[in-house]
Amino acid sequence: MTATTMRAVLMSGDGTADVVDRPVPTPGPGEVLVQTRASAICRSDMTIYHGNPVLGAVRTGDDRRVPGHEAAGVVVALGEGVTGVAVGDRVAGYLAIGDERHPLGQRGYLMLTPGWRCFGFDVDGGDAEYFTIPAHNALPLPEAMSFEAGAVLTDMVGTQYATQRTLGVGPGDVVAVVGMGPMGSAAVLIAKARGARVIAVDVLDTRLEHARSLGADAVVDSSQEDMVAGIARETGGAGADVVIECSGNPRAQRGALDAAAKLGRVAYVGESQSAEINPSEHLIHKQLTLIGGWYFPRTLWDEIVAFVVEHDIPIEKLISHRFPLEDAAEAFAAFDRRETEKAVFIW
Ligand SMILES: [Zn+2]
Repeated sequence: MTATTMRAVLMSGDGTADVVDRPVPTPGPGEVLVQTRASAICRSDMTIYHGNPVLGAVRTGDDRRVPGHEAAGVVVALGEGVTGVAVGDRVAGYLAIGDERHPLGQRGYLMLTPGWRCFGFDVDGGDAEYFTIPAHNALPLPEAMSFEAGAVLTDMVGTQYATQRTLGVGPGDVVAVVGMGPMGSAAVLIAKARGARVIAVDVLDTRLEHARSLGADAVVDSSQEDMVAGIARETGGAGADVVIECSGNPRAQRGALDAAAKLGRVAYVGESQSAEINPSEHLIHKQLTLIGGWYFPRTLWDEIVAFVVEHDIPIEKLISHRFPLEDAAEAFAAFDRRETEKAVFIW
């Protein structure tokens, strides 16, 4: 038997986070009710926090939603018609709620189907004691994996796995990761596990140290030297086989193309609205491949989990702070001031 009210975070878009009482949601047809055990704070939550959400109903001035799109917990109730998920299952939430029958949805790309909705933006998310999610979005977590790892796996780690899989990152590659926030840190872990040599780029000493502790082979402090020159130095002038741009800084996005070797592969993962690209110089005459990395197809989950378990990837190392939900105001403020790396609410 579950409670009827729960504690949940709500934001008003003015740089504050409140913890309030809300009714425990009832799982609709095809949905499951999950008791939350971990819910991670993401940089994109800051867009809700400051009133300019990148996605979702809140952007249109609709009712406030509970944030949190990286959450994991235990299934405690099933809606009508649910099959394949049972009470007691340990699950993480797949954030894109979309049309499973659409050709793109069938391939697992629910976030590319028309009218898709985002967990924690368009619908209530995981920064609460309970959340509901379609059974199709309940990602099974193996017994060996913590809820915290599961929560973090659903966004950065999954995104990096899918992106580097598409880029074919492997032994023999030199991978430059630009921007060592949580996404860049996940990129380092995945690239190392795939057997690449990794160069981490950032402007902050502390983040470069963290990158080394995650396994980066070399670092470039782009507050001290030009990033392109630093990567050239570390690669004997050839440039990086792969550049993964996680900062979203337009100068770094251009730099990623400059720093890539001929026949190189580049992924943009950090979001921005415009960047300068010289098609002849960057793409055509270098025969470069440029892709966008954004989340992962639902169908890739089992492979992601198996990869993380097989390579014993220390996902918890991405987490610098843990908070009880009641400290949400402090947690979001600290994350906003960039005093934390990945921060997670735990129960
Ligand atoms: Zn996220």
